[in-house]
Amino acid sequence: MKAIKTVGLILFIQGFCFFNGIFFSATYSLQQETVTARIADEAKRKLFLQAAHSLLEEKDISVFSFVTGLQKIFEEVNQSQVNEYGITQEEILELSMRRGNQFSLARVDSLYVGQDAISNFKKKAWQDYASWLEGRKFDSSDALRNQLQEIAIKINQYAIINQVGFDRYQVKDLTYTLTKASAAGPVQSNHILFLVLTIGLCVAGALLYILPKLNLPPGIKNNGIYFNAMKNTGWLGMLTGTWLILFYVVLYFYPEYMTQWITLVDPVSKALNGNEAGRFFLYGFIYTLCILVMGVRMLIHYRHSKYQVLRTCSVMFFQTAFAFLIPEILIRLNKPYFDFKNIWPLDYSFFFDSRISELISAGTIGLFMLGWGIALIIMGVPVLVYFFGKRWYCSWVCGCGGLAETLGDPYRQLSNKTLKAWKIERWMIHSVLVFAVVMTAGVIYTYWTGASWFLFFDSYQLREVYGVFIGVGFAGVVGTGFYPLMGNRVWCRFGCPLAAYLGIIQRFKSRFRITTNGGQCISCGNCSTYCEMGIDVRWYAQRGQNIVRSSCVGCGVCSSVCPRGVLNLEVKAEDGRFGKPILVGNNNIGIAAAQPKKASWTK
Ligand code: SF4
Ligand code: SF4
Repeated sequence: MKAIKTVGLILFIQGFCFFNGIFFSATYSLQQETVTARIADEAKRKLFLQAAHSLLEEKDISVFSFVTGLQKIFEEVNQSQVNEYGITQEEILELSMRRGNQFSLARVDSLYVGQDAISNFKKKAWQDYASWLEGRKFDSSDALRNQLQEIAIKINQYAIINQVGFDRYQVKDLTYTLTKASAAGPVQSNHILFLVLTIGLCVAGALLYILPKLNLPPGIKNNGIYFNAMKNTGWLGMLTGTWLILFYVVLYFYPEYMTQWITLVDPVSKALNGNEAGRFFLYGFIYTLCILVMGVRMLIHYRHSKYQVLRTCSVMFFQTAFAFLIPEILIRLNKPYFDFKNIWPLDYSFFFDSRISELISAGTIGLFMLGWGIALIIMGVPVLVYFFGKRWYCSWVCGCGGLAETLGDPYRQLSNKTLKAWKIERWMIHSVLVFAVVMTAGVIYTYWTGASWFLFFDSYQLREVYGVFIGVGFAGVVGTGFYPLMGNRVWCRFGCPLAAYLGIIQRFKSRFRITTNGGQCISCGNCSTYCEMGIDVRWYAQRGQNIVRSSCVGCGVCSSVCPRGVLNLEVKAEDGRFGKPILVGNNNIGIAAAQPKKASWTK
């Protein structure tokens, strides 16, 4: 048994080393045909190729030199366009020298009389950015000039780059696609071999490491967990956390550097959706494999508990079918990418104009998807939480919860159980919910009216801030990268707006509760230790009080690890749900003495 585990560990380490090794395995050469195939706009392509002459001559350079070269080209093109199309000081002076210090678009037309591309661009730009100034009088020509100066800066900074240069989204997208298409290395020459040598070896090694646990008798064994460098924020945990954080940072912000990893899964992507893999295909593929492999570990680890076995099978199924396979097959059928179990506000882009337009234009199936998503928010969530508690989603269906319950299970004991953490948790998660609601209201307002200014913010900027800080930073980088540092439910506990919404319903209108048989409790503390949501379960158990907490995801591990069968996850009539503490056989402990200072939090 030990030998099989050792072989598994060696295979896993080898696969992981290969995986990291191929990161820098390619060299890069830019070809004119590659540019032609990827920059559709002829004028921009011409400009790019003019600026790219030195990079076109360089062959087999490193990814860092290549990406730096591309960025220089985009900067050069944009700067040349600003020089050519930019509003000059003379033009501003000319427009501000008007009797009555009044701005007029007629003056703009008389300034740019030519019909060439530059004059037409400038006329249109002034109309777009300054029509609101039409006829407005200023106290002095200086005041008018200052106002025009501000508008000219916007035109020079945004309008030129967006219309005749490369905006930041195009720069990001083209940097990635050109880098991926210009790579040459061992992975490109044999995808399957390297897929087997990297991800294949990791999966095989992990399974060989896990399967021998079947020889042990059923029942949870967490012996020595606090002496394990991986599971108690030791050096191995720190290293793992750092790797995960770096992975997420590169995935979200610098995908052009991980093109070799993405190329690795091209064959899988082509087989499923007919296209080359993108970064999120790679992410979805690895994510699903992690849930499946670590799901096997969960099935063995908790095989004495039917609840845990069913729950684990459920998250494995929903991730594989609903989050991974069905959306990819939809793409193959030319239908919109859609995860039927991802619910707003966790799916924060659900109401974005681009997505609503895509669904509406997809016909009946698109309208069904739109209706399905809205029905889940309005009816599915409240009804199911009422009958089953938030666990139906957080511990049985959700992809984030699925990863937390499988890959994150070895770290559940690291969740902070202090009252301070509980206080921070409530402030943070409900603030994110409010943020998501306000951001979405702005998005919907912009969709209906076409105006981006909503109340006192720009809806486009707000959705971007939300996306970067919550969608990427919190849910991705912190949410998973911090597993080995702060436990497996950092995102679910402190940041997920859907968990907050589910939790509010669970707290006030649900049949779900955990009942406690206080007289049986021996205060061992296992339940509190392994509660991933940081709930001090023992405190309730000692008092014989029902646990009715908004944050409880109903994972049931507190009940599974209890040696005395004290805890029971139940759905019953609401009556008596908020029962008072009942101390059985513990007459010498007064209720008041057992209450913590902030007892009102449990009410
Ligand atoms: S209280 Fe129990 S069921 Fe609820 S989250 Fe904690 S361990 Fe899971
Ligand atoms: S695990 Fe069971 S016996 Fe131990 S403290 Fe919790 S409820 Fe009590």
